[in-house]
Amino acid sequence: MDYNAIRRKSRKIRVGKIFVGGDAPVTVQSMTNTDPCDFEAMRRQIEEAAAAGCDIIRLAIPDREAVGTLYRLKESGISLPLVADIHFSASLAILAAEAGADKIRINPGNIGEPDRVKAVADACRKAGIPIRVGVNSGSLDKKQLALYGAPTAEALAASALENVALLERYDFEDIVVAIKSSDVGRMAEANRIVAEACDYPLHLGVTEAGSEQIGSVKSAVGIGSLLLSGIGDTLRVSLTADPVREVEKGRAILAALGMDRRASVELVSCPTCGRTKVDLIPLVEAFEARTNELHPVRRLKVAIMGCAVNGPGEARDADLGIAGGVGEGLLFRRGRIIRKIPEDRIVDTLIDEINNFRDDESAGDE
Ligand code: SF4
Repeated sequence: MDYNAIRRKSRKIRVGKIFVGGDAPVTVQSMTNTDPCDFEAMRRQIEEAAAAGCDIIRLAIPDREAVGTLYRLKESGISLPLVADIHFSASLAILAAEAGADKIRINPGNIGEPDRVKAVADACRKAGIPIRVGVNSGSLDKKQLALYGAPTAEALAASALENVALLERYDFEDIVVAIKSSDVGRMAEANRIVAEACDYPLHLGVTEAGSEQIGSVKSAVGIGSLLLSGIGDTLRVSLTADPVREVEKGRAILAALGMDRRASVELVSCPTCGRTKVDLIPLVEAFEARTNELHPVRRLKVAIMGCAVNGPGEARDADLGIAGGVGEGLLFRRGRIIRKIPEDRIVDTLIDEINNFRDDESAGDE
């Protein structure tokens, strides 16, 4: 299934060198957690996230000193678009826009009087940058809470749309909408409501999702369920962990849906059982650790299976694969066995075969 083909038609906006929405690929974001005043630590963390596959990164901007860091990062030629995360302060948002931020994240409802929201919208328009309207269940405004009695999906969606309307009042439509909740179902439902009600691109995420393990699962369920319905233009997996982990999990969600254009292979590996003939778990880990060495002519489906009894058959639709034998692996191509490989050469051989793969190839077949 091509989930890109069923994506909701959203408008396309630009965040620095990256496009979000429209026909742009779904992007992966993260947020730095270093001291906003420590330029070097911030720069290092951003480049680490970039190396892991981050497309856009957000920085907390709690004060003017942090705006200075943002300015220095832009001056340094940092490789990722930077999103300035601002709470309550219109003046900080304006300063961040002037300092070179590629997007401003605010909750217009907590910026203050309408003229302050207008001032932020004007500054962003002048800088040519979008605003991300962020609403989450922990900071839902009092009006919606009173109306709905709780931060329900309907309340979150209504709050987001009200904030959007606040910007539209000042003719500002360069908007991304993010509605987050730590409740997976509520977050998904709120996004579905907003997806129906407008065509702004949507930033998906489960907030306060938890540790790497549980947070990844929650995010995969919430974000994944929306992407399966064609909803979502960019995402962040929020984890109590290093931003690099967030990026890896975000890319993994996209890869699981075949939406990660950076992924050169789709790996299929069996769960192992009593028939497993090779030490499959470290073998798969070793292969995964070397995916940066893979440069196939097109995205390939690659199988690493534990036995030859069922392996090639179970992975018949894989372009290439290995089925474990005693002390060896059987290399197969679309279900047909090609040759035997010593166990200690399996990963190296698979990498070579992937990099030399040709669709019409018969060379190497025996
Ligand atoms: S491929 Fe073989 S080893 Fe792996 S789960 Fe299936 S039967 Fe078991």
